[in-house]
Amino acid sequence: MTPTSRITSFAFAAVAAFMLSASPAAFGAAADAPKSIDQIYRERGNDVEFQKIPPFKMFDNLWYVGPGYVSVYLISTSDGLILIDASEEPHVNHVIDSIGKAGFNLRDIKYILISHGHLDHFGGVAKIQELSGARVAAVEQDWQAIEAAGRAPGRNNSPSPRVPKRDMVITEGQKLTLGNTTLTLHITPGHTPGVMSAEFTVFDNGVPHKAFYSGGTGGRGGVKGFEDAVASTARIIQIPGIEVFLPNHGWNPGTDYPNGSILARAEKLKTRKAGDPNPFVDPASWRQFITNAQVRNQRGLEEERQKAAAGGTPAAQ
Ligand SMILES: [Zn+2]
Repeated sequence: MTPTSRITSFAFAAVAAFMLSASPAAFGAAADAPKSIDQIYRERGNDVEFQKIPPFKMFDNLWYVGPGYVSVYLISTSDGLILIDASEEPHVNHVIDSIGKAGFNLRDIKYILISHGHLDHFGGVAKIQELSGARVAAVEQDWQAIEAAGRAPGRNNSPSPRVPKRDMVITEGQKLTLGNTTLTLHITPGHTPGVMSAEFTVFDNGVPHKAFYSGGTGGRGGVKGFEDAVASTARIIQIPGIEVFLPNHGWNPGTDYPNGSILARAEKLKTRKAGDPNPFVDPASWRQFITNAQVRNQRGLEEERQKAAAGGTPAAQ
């Protein structure tokens, strides 16, 4: 993926704040080419303090409780909480603190949904599962990836990461109901073989809006990954009435949510006045995003097929 060159006013503010806190020696070269906020959040993924963005309430029943670089969403229902992803160490205590600051009790988490089998999303799940007693759900193929990660050495030959125990296996179109809330779960492979996405209703001062959480829409991993991604985006694009897009990274270079990322929209939410629209309700940007994703995946598939034909990457299956 290529970094975005679009810099929002929020990005400028964040870059300025970052530059104030960084040593000139470490950041000297950036004066002529300021980094975008997504580059900064990605590059400083292990900077625990920098990543501690306060939790924010997006809708009556939806909070963002993640660190800056990877999304963690908390859905509140009449009968407890549903968490989507949990980030990874060393950020998990921030997620736990954010859930508390948002006014919730960890013990009320009934389900944790894992978007896909990459450590930045599931790495914190085992800890939060133990503290909450929640059920944990993922797609079969990515349960296998998670279990494999638990047997392999961690990054830089560190010990194997703690991984959640296989619990619930998500099926296509499955309805997950907790109290007054029902999520429709989808299997949308491409980024990995077992990406989970979810449709559900969010409420803005009582007004319902259809939200779509994506565990990742971009192809990855050769011809098969891009074939899957093209098929997944072709299905997702047909889902009617989506007004709110919930990406799995607040900042996502190369696959930006047009007209403002999740964190940029959170800045707008802070100054929202009575009667103003909720900045997360934006069906036009969603259409633009998913259309762009489809074009990107089709182009990526052609490139992967050319590579495979040239002998660079074996054509899978
Ligand atoms: Zn991933």
